[in-house]
Amino acid sequence: MIADHHIIALKALVDANGSTTEKHDLEPFVTEWRDKFIGKTQLMLSPKTTDEVAAIIKYCSTHQITVVPQGGNTGLVGGSTPGINGADEILINLRRMTSVHNVNAEDYSVTVDAGCTVSMIHEAAIASDRLFPLSLASEGSCTAGGVASTNAGGVHVIRYGTTRALVLGVEAVLPDGSIIDALTPLRKDNTGYALAQLMIGAEGTLGIITKVCFKLYPSEKKRSTAWLALPDANSALKLLSMARDITGDQVSVFELMCRPALDFAFNHIPDLRDPISDIYPWYVLLECASSDAASDINIKVQTLLEAALEQNLIVDGAIALSEQQRELFWHTRESLSEAQKHEGGSIKHDISVPVSTIPKFIEAATNAIHAKYPDARVTPFGHMGDGNLHFNVMQPANQAKADFLSHWEDMNRLVHDVVIEFGGSISAEHGIGILKKDELSRTKPSANLAAMRAIKHALDPKNIMNPRVLFSD
Ligand SMILES: Cc1cc2nc3c(=O)[nH]c(=O)nc-3n(C[C@H](O)[C@H](O)[C@H](O)COP(=O)(O)OP(=O)(O)OC[C@H]3O[C@@H](n4cnc5c(N)ncnc54)[C@H](O)[C@@H]3O)c2cc1C
Repeated sequence: MIADHHIIALKALVDANGSTTEKHDLEPFVTEWRDKFIGKTQLMLSPKTTDEVAAIIKYCSTHQITVVPQGGNTGLVGGSTPGINGADEILINLRRMTSVHNVNAEDYSVTVDAGCTVSMIHEAAIASDRLFPLSLASEGSCTAGGVASTNAGGVHVIRYGTTRALVLGVEAVLPDGSIIDALTPLRKDNTGYALAQLMIGAEGTLGIITKVCFKLYPSEKKRSTAWLALPDANSALKLLSMARDITGDQVSVFELMCRPALDFAFNHIPDLRDPISDIYPWYVLLECASSDAASDINIKVQTLLEAALEQNLIVDGAIALSEQQRELFWHTRESLSEAQKHEGGSIKHDISVPVSTIPKFIEAATNAIHAKYPDARVTPFGHMGDGNLHFNVMQPANQAKADFLSHWEDMNRLVHDVVIEFGGSISAEHGIGILKKDELSRTKPSANLAAMRAIKHALDPKNIMNPRVLFSD
């Protein structure tokens, strides 16, 4: 238990609306959105300024009170849930820090508070005829600080990179309460360690990000979107290279989906209909875009599809002829995760391998699962253009959910061992959090882990910043 006098002192560091101790009010903030992690806390603080964050952390450092930072609470690995396994941690939620400080169209940059949602940043960019390219299904809730802390990916990484590539600068409060000012729109700055980048993907273990300066791009003026059916995953690999070549590298989305994942969506999500009437084993959502309003991108995509048909890389397809049709394609793709919930238990693997090995990886990992669990339903889909798949394994229809989920760790090992064999990563997008820390310590080279621990210890010697994530004890 954190002593009452600490709770009173911490509450005094924020305004009257900046703290909560009521169990009922705290409930949504201590529960992960899939109910996978349910934690607890005695106190949630919601500061409004960087100085308030700094004062809170200084107090916590002095009194060795551990803290968990939280943005939109959309993370998928338990990193933003305080008090799992009974730990005494206060929650610091950044959602009241929502100012957009500066959109500089000529610098192609935007500076925002950590609590701004990704949708807010999109709106600010659009108002200046610019593009903020980070795009993920949680964008209405996830925050600048959260996407930076998890180095979020999404559907545009193939063209614009992950959040790490989009961050120009960061302001952050370190675990001793000091504030680092690396909040710059500079594209070039070779003055020692890249402190802003150190905070990216740190999952709240090295400090609290309070502001972020992101890169912007010219807005997309013309787009061509296609829903394509393929005979096999190998054809998708060839199609990807062909698409990059023929369009002059204007591919902004390349999403691979297996048929069973789509069947779940068509069975469970209302208002969806299959863009193609016949059934095929694999599908690709392809989008190409240009910032040139006079671009011939539509013609280039048609040329691509003709060439791909000729070589049997695609067997059927539809190009979106209206914004409504494009939205249907997108809605279908974005429904896949939600649809799986209705099919019972699923054991998910958010992995990446070199792009060129995706077809072989799918085959090897599927074989590894089926050798031991022949009835498990393997349903991979994801950001193939980045070598990133959600390699999900669904419970067989005739098995009880709890029984299936009891094989979680074994299936993780089976899939992750194949990932490592292919030179891949056990977490491409979602981070490590609490969920994957044991697998991280099993699969990461020990010298790499030791270097990570040394950085953590140097910045957070009292281990107060999100101490239960990333590292196994
Ligand atoms: C429907 C859905 C779709 C998703 N799709 C994708 C996807 O396509 N690609 C992808 O990469 N991810 C995806 N995600 C997960 C993604 O990681 C989160 O959406 C997002 O990056 C986390 O942002 P958040 O503000 O919700 O952070 P939270 O969930 O609140 O926190 C995540 C982690 O960051 C830390 N943190 C949060 N804010 C700060 C801060 N200001 N300073 C320091 N640490 C902080 C927390 O302690 C925690 O460890 C998806 C999630 C959902 C629910």
